[in-house]
Amino acid sequence: MREAPTAQSNSTNAARARTLRFAHFTDLHITPDRPSEPGMKQAFETAQADGIEMILTGGDLIMDGFATRRAQVDREWALLHKIFQEHCRVPVEHCLGNHDIFGFCRSKAELKGDEPDYGYGRSLGELKLGARWRSFDRNGWHFIVLSSVEPDPDNECAYLAYLNDEQRAWLEADLAATKLPTVVVSHVPIITVTATIRAGESERKKKETVIAGSQVHLDAAPVHGIFRRTGNVKLVLSGHMHLVDRCEADGVTYCCSGAVCGGWWKPHKTYCEPTYALIDLFNDGSFDYRVKPTGWTNP
Ligand SMILES: [Zn+2]
Repeated sequence: MREAPTAQSNSTNAARARTLRFAHFTDLHITPDRPSEPGMKQAFETAQADGIEMILTGGDLIMDGFATRRAQVDREWALLHKIFQEHCRVPVEHCLGNHDIFGFCRSKAELKGDEPDYGYGRSLGELKLGARWRSFDRNGWHFIVLSSVEPDPDNECAYLAYLNDEQRAWLEADLAATKLPTVVVSHVPIITVTATIRAGESERKKKETVIAGSQVHLDAAPVHGIFRRTGNVKLVLSGHMHLVDRCEADGVTYCCSGAVCGGWWKPHKTYCEPTYALIDLFNDGSFDYRVKPTGWTNP
């Protein structure tokens, strides 16, 4: 069903036609220990009733694999597969978050680091992905799925958000090879408004706002520069903050789509309610972006 352009529309072209409607589901944090199963069921029902044709995830698919022992990580991935098999009726494209990496924090995960599924190996295997980052075309649009999270060389239980050299070179080449309007997704925001909210008033004494390199991409300037130069990137999606934000820089719109789990499947004062983004893409390179409640309330 064709909907009338809304106030959020970025186009006034009366001839434009929608070519794809999809949902951005980020920060699912699936675990058998909290009500993620009914919460995810509700999210799928709500989004699918909206007529989505695809789900693009934003990472943090399971509660945690980064600093968690194998038996628990096994339970979380098993539940994720069960939930998607039972409730998801549209194609899914997955993006990986920090919590999907297995055992970078080796001391807490009780791993040595030489296991075949250590690090990114586990989620690539679980999701049958050939690579951490990739791109694909759908309905006249180009999609780029980035992989934000790298180990922190100074602390095995921390991480940093940036594109490694290989990924950045790949991104430049991939964007140079397409003329299609492009949607990019990364787990950690490349540019975000909410990081300054997180920084809080305590920073006043230091006379500066400090934003951690695990919270926002450390390479925002060069990556945004790549987006600007190519001119095709319309919409850049992220998660990670469990907050909803939207900003625009040099014609590129950056949106953080909250979290499907809200505050990790618990009621939470600071973080968003369970949300997802409903996105319409049009044949003139414009889009509509809306954040909606999944309909689930954490008990
Ligand atoms: Zn998360």
